[in-house]
Amino acid sequence: MRTPITKQLLLLAAMLSIACAQNIDFASIKIQTVKISDGLYVLMGGPAQGNILVSTGPDGIFLVDSMYAPMHQKIMDALNAISRQPIRYLVNTHLHGDHTAGNEAMAKLGAVIISHENMRKRMPPASRDLPVLTYTDSITLHFNGEEIYIYHPEPAHTDGDSIIYFRHANVMHVGDVPSSLRYPNIGVNEGGAVDGMIAAARQVMKVANPETKIIPGHLGPVVGFKEIEQQLEMFQAVRERVLTAIRAGKTVEQVVASKPTADFDAPRLGGAITPDRFVTLVYTDLAKRAR
Ligand SMILES: [Zn+2]
Repeated sequence: MRTPITKQLLLLAAMLSIACAQNIDFASIKIQTVKISDGLYVLMGGPAQGNILVSTGPDGIFLVDSMYAPMHQKIMDALNAISRQPIRYLVNTHLHGDHTAGNEAMAKLGAVIISHENMRKRMPPASRDLPVLTYTDSITLHFNGEEIYIYHPEPAHTDGDSIIYFRHANVMHVGDVPSSLRYPNIGVNEGGAVDGMIAAARQVMKVANPETKIIPGHLGPVVGFKEIEQQLEMFQAVRERVLTAIRAGKTVEQVVASKPTADFDAPRLGGAITPDRFVTLVYTDLAKRAR
């Protein structure tokens, strides 16, 4: 008797996640600016906005991600408080709107938008948020005295992810690759995959080092290997449980109802993705591959 109710809940959850951007009360959001090291700042706009990493210096401003479009003026006010330099570059960690929908306004101010080539390919050709500079494996910018290494992990959160590493400051923005304690979205319709999320998080710990300040796509503003390891543990356990259930012929409704994340939920409820939504995403990806 439980199935129809669960089905309705799932439908509702799906609708809520689609309506997410429209339901955000942008007017009430305040941007919090956190200094990470000399010339490096994180702009945070709550759990539904992608964290922006800012590099300021003699060459100008370099940004990682652009939040949702209605955040633009708030972002500009926050930037003006730390630098009056022009915005020269903006790199996107991936195509989701909470990281890219502010691109157009930044491009109008002269920012050169950079992304992995797959990210651009997945955006509508008429989009005004399109990157103008794309790369395949990695690209390095020499800017503000930094070596900004941008690389593409294997398909993880999407198949067009970028990870940005400031080698001198030892600061890395990992976008939505597992890092902060929350349930991450998985771009199951954009080439993202559970196994890729796990592999990319492991790869981050090879490119970075235990002292690296890791900026997650959401929450934070700074995490380290400890949080990544905690997320990897959760991912591996939930992956095992959901895969076992799929092999036993369970439906997505049954798996969601069995609460396979329950023992991991307590510290992870502050994000935008609910446990049920996360389980649905894990199931969707693993079931596709198990077929
Ligand atoms: Zn995302």
